[in-house]
Amino acid sequence: MVAPHGNCPGAINVVMLGPPGAGKGTQAERLSRARKLPKVSTGDILRESVQSGTKLGRAAKATMEAGNLVGDDMMIAIVQDRLNRSDARCGFVLDGFPRTVVQATALDRMVADRGPLVVLDIVVPEEVLEFRLATRRICAKCGSTATPEWTAACGKCGGGLVTRVDDGIEIVRERLKVYQRQTKPLVEYYSSRPNFSSIDGNRPPDVVTAAVGAALDAAIGAAGHGVAQ
Ligand code: ADP
Repeated sequence: MVAPHGNCPGAINVVMLGPPGAGKGTQAERLSRARKLPKVSTGDILRESVQSGTKLGRAAKATMEAGNLVGDDMMIAIVQDRLNRSDARCGFVLDGFPRTVVQATALDRMVADRGPLVVLDIVVPEEVLEFRLATRRICAKCGSTATPEWTAACGKCGGGLVTRVDDGIEIVRERLKVYQRQTKPLVEYYSSRPNFSSIDGNRPPDVVTAAVGAALDAAIGAAGHGVAQ
């Protein structure tokens, strides 16, 4: 269903920034549940498309597996389409988009009539990222990222756990390089805005979740909305 654009007073439009492995996906998922906002993860959308063999999936597969970025035009169209759906009218949590300055500029245009963006940048040292990505497991069936409690099987659907195709060490290094070159400039792009916050992501997930909730509350001036999990 496509809803017309328009103001939704109090809309909460969140962008989670950060390098691969920073924990954006986990935190975006928790925030989405706690605040009842749809999570829009471009990585998940692309992986689902690859898995189901759609035209988009066939076009993106090799690029993703090499650790490179899918083209801006394609990504902008996907996100535009997703944000036009009615569930995103009063806000969203974006995970994995924008990843380039071109995408960020397009996002600014998309949300011009929807209230300000809250940008939360999760910061983690590079050597920690390499370790996290190289040891990360996902569900072979539904694609969810494994949590520490899932040992042998997926806690959501019971599927087996595997390494993500792009989490091999060489590809991880390439993705971190791509992040430095193409995505890190977004910190500069957003950091002078009043709704930008930097969050130390090198702490236990629950501590980061609390910091994310507090930063969001500070940004929207809604003290008292604790982040439940
Ligand atoms: P990560 O764990 O590295 O943050 P994601 O799950 O967000 O990875 O994305 C996986 C891959 O999907 C990326 O390495 C890239 O190839 C592609 N991708 C996801 N989002 C975008 C985007 N906004 N622009 C270009 N490519 C993207």
